[in-house]
Amino acid sequence: MPAKTQSTPTADAMADEVLIGRLRSYASDVLAPMAPEYEEDARFPDEVLRFLGKGGLMRLAYPPVTAAPDTSANPDASSMNFYESIEILSTGWTAVAESLHLQALATHGLAHHSGEDLRAELLEDMLSFQKIGGNCFSEPDAGSDLSSLTTQAIDRGDHFVLNGTKSWVGHAPVADLLNVYCRTGGQGIAGISCLLVDARTSGITIGAAEPKMGVKSLPTAQVRFVDVKVPANRLLGRKNRGMLIAAEVFHKGRLGLAACANGLAEAALNTAALYAKQREQFDRKIIEFQGISFMLADMSTQLAASKALTRHAIGETGSPGALLLASQAKLFATDMAMKVTTDAVQVLGAYGYTRANPVERFMREAKLLQIIEGTNQIHRATIASHL
Ligand SMILES: Cc1cc2nc3c(=O)[nH]c(=O)nc-3n(C[C@H](O)[C@H](O)[C@H](O)COP(=O)(O)OP(=O)(O)OC[C@H]3O[C@@H](n4cnc5c(N)ncnc54)[C@H](O)[C@@H]3O)c2cc1C
Repeated sequence: MPAKTQSTPTADAMADEVLIGRLRSYASDVLAPMAPEYEEDARFPDEVLRFLGKGGLMRLAYPPVTAAPDTSANPDASSMNFYESIEILSTGWTAVAESLHLQALATHGLAHHSGEDLRAELLEDMLSFQKIGGNCFSEPDAGSDLSSLTTQAIDRGDHFVLNGTKSWVGHAPVADLLNVYCRTGGQGIAGISCLLVDARTSGITIGAAEPKMGVKSLPTAQVRFVDVKVPANRLLGRKNRGMLIAAEVFHKGRLGLAACANGLAEAALNTAALYAKQREQFDRKIIEFQGISFMLADMSTQLAASKALTRHAIGETGSPGALLLASQAKLFATDMAMKVTTDAVQVLGAYGYTRANPVERFMREAKLLQIIEGTNQIHRATIASHL
């Protein structure tokens, strides 16, 4: 095997740094001005995501050498940079950061738990956003309790026959590939498999995008499967062991969502601080009132603590305490984002309550982050179980 030169990782790391530096101006100069209109119209920013995919962002999550076997337990500098990218994008437009994050999660099973042929066929298109992916865990009657999911796949040897309904599938109306978690064995989590399904297969009906409170430009919809034939080579990992893949996806999902929350809170804090330095009442800038400046100081401190916890949790991936830390980071960051965005509305007063300023949208976006990737009640229960 030809020896890898020592300089390669350094060159890669430098390229990653340049990429991240450019992202900051992209987030503030391109994404932030686009976001209000796209969010208002619930328009999916296809062109933005394909641009980011072409630019190589997804490669931070899946550098060529790490596509299979699974190295998710061993993060390198590149994956730390991926989470940092999500945080930066979220300062400009949270839905774009979440879309990128969702695409990375939808690529995990393919990258680490599929056969070489399937990777050769699909991985490049997923990394460049030429194909769009989604994850189907939730069902109308199975939300927090995924062990009760009922979507079923019957094994017919060279193919599976899939029946059931999945809810709230992010990207569903625009998706090409769906990771469908379905029952192939008995009750509980030990009977669940993961199938990578072409979204346009006969028997699949994708509902209209749900009319959401926020993050509207990332469409979410119900997906129905009626006698859908899925080739046997689309089974990711082992039959009845799909929840092992899900566990890895959930771990990455929590870290990515914490990064989204940190970026969103940063945007809210910056908007509020700028406003407080300009707005005058009683012949003084409102930031000179301690009621406002202390609120901003607390927002800034909570954000700094959240970023530190998130980075620590990412760095500890693979260690025995990694799952606990990921839950803590998700819980802390998303509760922090809810508080910081709510306080940002308060700092802007009546102007914060109108659509003329982005802080009311930030507040609606923060609410979602407390619900997805495990509700914050479920994370509190998980953390308590470690005590
Ligand atoms: C915009 C959006 C995008 C989404 N994207 C996806 C996606 O791409 N793929 C996907 O599969 N799903 C997705 N979801 C679904 C999401 O993962 C679920 O909403 C979430 O898991 C919670 O399930 P539920 O809404 O059915 O709430 P439920 O589980 O019914 O919970 C309702 C309430 O009860 C609380 N609760 C439940 N159990 C407990 C407990 N044991 N202890 C304490 N409190 C509890 C919850 O915290 C919550 O407050 C998305 C949801 C939304 C809103």
